[in-house]
Order: sequence, then structure tokens, then C-alpha cells
Amino acid sequence: MPRLTFHGAAETVTGSKYLLEADGAAVLFDCGLFQGLKELRLKNWAPLSFDAQSVRACVLTHAHIDHIGFLPRFVKQGFRGPTYCTPATEDLAEIMLLDSAKIQEGDAEYANRKGFSKHHPALPLYDADDAVRALRQLKSVRRDEWFQAAGPIWCRYHDAGHLLGSAMIEVEIRSGAKPLRILFSGDVGRYDAPLYHDPCPPPACDYLICESTYATREHPPVNLLDELCEAVTEAMRRGGVMLVPAFAVGRSQQLIYLLRVLIHQGRLPELPIYVDSPMAVDATQVFCAHSEDHDLSEGQLTGVDCVLDGRNVHLARTANESRAINAVGGPAVIIASSGMMTGGRILHHLKQRLASERNTIMLAGFMAEGTRGRLLENGADRLRIHGGDVPVRAAITKLAGMSGHAGHSELLRWLSPLAAPKKTFLTHGEKASALALADELRMTRSWNTCVPKLGESFELVDA
Ligand SMILES: [Zn+2]
Repeated sequence: MPRLTFHGAAETVTGSKYLLEADGAAVLFDCGLFQGLKELRLKNWAPLSFDAQSVRACVLTHAHIDHIGFLPRFVKQGFRGPTYCTPATEDLAEIMLLDSAKIQEGDAEYANRKGFSKHHPALPLYDADDAVRALRQLKSVRRDEWFQAAGPIWCRYHDAGHLLGSAMIEVEIRSGAKPLRILFSGDVGRYDAPLYHDPCPPPACDYLICESTYATREHPPVNLLDELCEAVTEAMRRGGVMLVPAFAVGRSQQLIYLLRVLIHQGRLPELPIYVDSPMAVDATQVFCAHSEDHDLSEGQLTGVDCVLDGRNVHLARTANESRAINAVGGPAVIIASSGMMTGGRILHHLKQRLASERNTIMLAGFMAEGTRGRLLENGADRLRIHGGDVPVRAAITKLAGMSGHAGHSELLRWLSPLAAPKKTFLTHGEKASALALADELRMTRSWNTCVPKLGESFELVDA
């Protein structure tokens, strides 16, 4: 009998890894890294409770590290099969995994320098060579085409609208008289998100594995274009520049697109947009190469090759190009990572711009506790940067409408056309969030729901 085991994203948001076994073939759906609290990160080091060599294939939903970041380690542990993903995910994975390897190597180097590791020398979880090996095993498949992952396990991708290349996975186990149907939601995107299509309606299934990241939270019903236009107009009135800390992959490109639409519509003047992050520059090029994946319902831009590429968009890759931005006066928008201001080039810009009341810092997303982003959000009057205190005199503003995950009512909207599966597993959410969605679907739709525990395994009854 087919069997499904939850090796990650069970009662937590990260580390997605679901092992599906049928007729002796084993396929791993997503191969994510645990992130966040130390207790979670340590799980990346624990031996797997299944044999990497025995897994015949991996199938990925999208390129975020909590869905693909364990791959290099998995390959290091002996996984030799193909790793299926969409074409855009393949390109983004290269950027994401090489960056992740750099972070792992940096962590190990730091532990060695400070001497706080139990192991001498401390080794990285994986390095750039491991990442390159994992990338060689990627095999891209277009959406809407069935492919055989291994044995009787067949898969088909549908757009999830969460990131460039993101997909949900429809699975059929073709061994009985009737196929057994399973659906992995991956991360479900938002309706009307800039650049991304709406998530596809879920295909019918016998078993559903559904994310629950924002199952207890609602996104404010705002018009992103209006909100952004107002914020930039106010920043221009102050006479300085607008600094936007943003994730290099995804958020930065959505912001460039929205700004260009506002300029194209004449609602903003032709102000320069600087993108200061090598990773964001690489990602922007990947986005441009996959323009077939763009949803431009906020506004078409005519006469351009790519909506992210205009004469007012300046991509800074080198350190010199980055330094040159220091001389820029207003009005201008500078987008730099990291998104929560924990590191990266944004810190140099903050050091240079934060103390002037002419400038504006726009927070465009969730700011986790303990980050400079959260401090600014809470009205801190100074910020510690590179060992010194910088007074906060710039205006702090927030763009509320940016999030990659469907909120509570959007998740219900996505699920609404689906007839009751035999069983629905709620994953990829904090425990309270997953339980709340499980209860709601049970109460309002009489669905058979379950919040699996880490390592828990279920037999899937044939149709
Ligand atoms: Zn994601």
C-alpha cells in the first residue's frame, strides 16, 4: 500500500520533505532546509530516518530555501536520482543554493573563528561544490505535462502563484485499476499578486497535503499600486531618497515592476530605481528570461523587452557600482537586501541615509523579532550598524500589502472548488495555525483532517 511520511514542515513552517512510497519506488516531494530557531536548524544535522540512496527521485514545488535548501546535503548523503522542477525554478535554484552554500560556509568559518563549535574544525552543512553537484541533478519539466517520477508515481505541475516558477504538484499512483490521486499544494500564492498569476484551482484528489502558513492571519485589503504611489510621492516631497530593504528574489522584482507601472501610467515621474544586490541582479535576469510566467494585470508596459528592465532601472552588481549609489541625491528608490536588514548592502545605505530626515525607509514585508527591521517598525530612535549607533531621523513607512502566502480567506478561496478528499494533511504552518485550519475544514466542510507530526507516516488507501 502506498505510504506517505512527513520528514519536515510538520507542525512548523520550514524543512518541507514528504516521502511517498509506492510499489517499492520512493520519491521525495520538496527537500527543504529547517530555518529559524536553533532547535529547528539542528534538525538539518540529524541523520535522516530514511536512506537517501534508496530515493529514486525528488520533485520540487519552488525555489525557496525551506523547500530546496537541503538538496546539497541530501546529495552528499547519497541521493543520485533526478530532481524535477519547473524551468524557472531550475534557474532560481542555482542562485538560491549557491547563496545558501555561502551562508553555510560562513557559519562554519565564524564558529571556527569564535571557537564555539563542539567539532574541530566546524564543517559547513554543505559547501559550494555540494550545491553544484545537487544542481547538476535538476531536470526541468513544464507545467501541465505529466511525467513519471519513479515506478508508478506520476506528477504534473500547476501554477501556485507564489514565486516565479512555483507550482503545486498533482500526483497519480498508477498501479491499481484507478489511479490514487494526491495533491501537494506547495506554498499557495495570493490572488492579484504583482507579476504572478493567481494560484490554479486545485485538481481533484484523494489525499491533500496543504500548507497553512497564514491560516490564522488575514492580509489587509489594500491596493498595492495606490499604497506604493502614495509612499513614494510622500518620500519625494521630503526631498531625499527612499530606501527599500527587500528580499533579493521575488520581492525586489515585484517592487521594480510596480514602480515601473506607476511611472508608465504617469502617476510617478521618471525617477531612478537602483537595485543594489548581486543576488537580486541575478534573480532579475532570471525573471526576465521567464517572462512567459509574468502576470501583468497591474499594468502592461509597451515597447520593452522585459518589464523589469528600463532606462531608469540601474542594477548594481559590483562593489564599485554599489558605492557609486552613495552619491545619488533624491528623488530615487534604492532597493537592497537583506529584507529584514540583518546583513547585506542595505546596512551601508542605512548608515549613510538613516540620520537625515529628508530620507524615507520603506518596510515592505514581514519583519521578524530581533531584526533591525522590527526595531524600525517599533519606532527605535537609533540603530546599531557595524558596531556604531546611527540615529533614526528618516521617515519610516510600511507597505502593508506585500506577502507571498495566501492569507486565511485566500486559502479558503483556493480550497473552495475542491470536493472532500479522503484525508487532508495540514502542514507548513506553526502548530496553532495548522490545527486552526484543520478544525475549520472539519467543522465547516466535514473534511477528514489531520496535522501530522514530524516523522509520522500514513498508509494511503487505494481508490
Ligand atoms: Zn515559499
